Amino acid sequence: MRDRPTLADLPVPRPSACPGLLRIVQALDGGICRVKLAGGGLSSAQARAIAEAAEHCASGVLELTNRSNLQIRGVLAGQHAELIERLLAAGLGPSNPTADDVRNLLLSPAAGLDPHALLDTRPLAAALLDLLQATPALHGLSAKFAIQLDGGEALAMLQHPHDIWLSALPGTPSRLAFGLAGCPSDTPLGSVDAEHAALLIEQLLLLFLDLAGSEHSRMRQLLSVITPSQLLQQLQARLPFAIQSAPINWQRATARQHAAIGTYPQQQAGLCMVAASARLGRIDAAQLRALADLAAQYGDASLRLTPLQGVLLPNIQEPSADTLLHALHELGLLTDRQEPLSQLIACTGSTACSKGLSDSKADALHLADRLRASGARPQVHLSACPRSCAAAHTAPFTLLASSASHYQLYQRTPELPGFGQLLASAMTIDEAGDWFAAHCATGNNDA
Ligand code: SF4
Repeated sequence: MRDRPTLADLPVPRPSACPGLLRIVQALDGGICRVKLAGGGLSSAQARAIAEAAEHCASGVLELTNRSNLQIRGVLAGQHAELIERLLAAGLGPSNPTADDVRNLLLSPAAGLDPHALLDTRPLAAALLDLLQATPALHGLSAKFAIQLDGGEALAMLQHPHDIWLSALPGTPSRLAFGLAGCPSDTPLGSVDAEHAALLIEQLLLLFLDLAGSEHSRMRQLLSVITPSQLLQQLQARLPFAIQSAPINWQRATARQHAAIGTYPQQQAGLCMVAASARLGRIDAAQLRALADLAAQYGDASLRLTPLQGVLLPNIQEPSADTLLHALHELGLLTDRQEPLSQLIACTGSTACSKGLSDSKADALHLADRLRASGARPQVHLSACPRSCAAAHTAPFTLLASSASHYQLYQRTPELPGFGQLLASAMTIDEAGDWFAAHCATGNNDA
């Protein structure tokens, strides 16, 4: 078994505004420590270790991120080293001390389990994570540079743009389409045999670093100065196999766009997955500990975080699913899609982020009350500034703070970039609630 690094082995992390396990970034409510989870997964034992560390070294508030990672908020001054030691001891650190930032690989939370999947992405994901961590030349990638690996699961978040994406092709599941600076629903750049995917990614990342230099930290920035076909040509010259075209008119089948809530079938006979959503992406340490216990009692003592700020418990005996779902509801998680909060996401907001104009989390709770009364169930993202931390994708509706008490209302449209079409330039939350009541029929998320 590989020795795990301890704090004494670790170099000082490079400067960045992005939190990591080894780089605790200060916010108004204390430090933020981001724990990057391989494939969004963690064991019950690791979940208990995080819960204990969050209570001992921080405020006990935990955030589930839109890349299936977990953040510990309110880390206390003087407790940083102990928190990091506890997380490393739980096996949550990188395998290479300088590789924490580059562990950015998003999978479906149902990888290897979803009956719709064309490919079990977990072995390739493990190979890619090993590659990222074991190759020092790749540790210069931005902490935001991210790869998506899509096995064709029905339960997947396909709207988050990634620097590189790979997606299993129907009919030839041992082939993967791939693309740059986008999502699997975009037109692919080419396709590759699954057995060649790790080498393709290695050479693509090294080529990116060679071409990007210090000016371009993300793929979309590089593609503003070099065309995708030029990049593809240079990539091909580095590879011992031929990159093939992707099938003409291939389009990734649509996946669900709502938070994962409820019971989902598994490939494995007699087993299912049970998922619930965290209220506005947050749980506390006691809830995480209880989740660990439920996963051990009903499943295989493992949990998977979803990219829609929820949690999924895999390998549940089908007859236990309703009991488990009820237990998750009792725990304070969202288990009913008709609950308006299950359709709302909100960033940290002004109470804990110095960039925030509004208290977006409190406003989201107030909006949920209005929606509960009206019956409208829109999917809305409340953002306290344009950085849009809570949503890497564009939600059907965005309320963007313009002051402490007012928001701009946007609706996503295919024609317009960013948040979409501006519908109102200054609304209070009560006015927004009235607008949704008037324009969104019950259960209609897109008006
Ligand atoms: S979107 Fe803006 S206000 Fe909200 S957490 Fe991010 S930086 Fe802070």
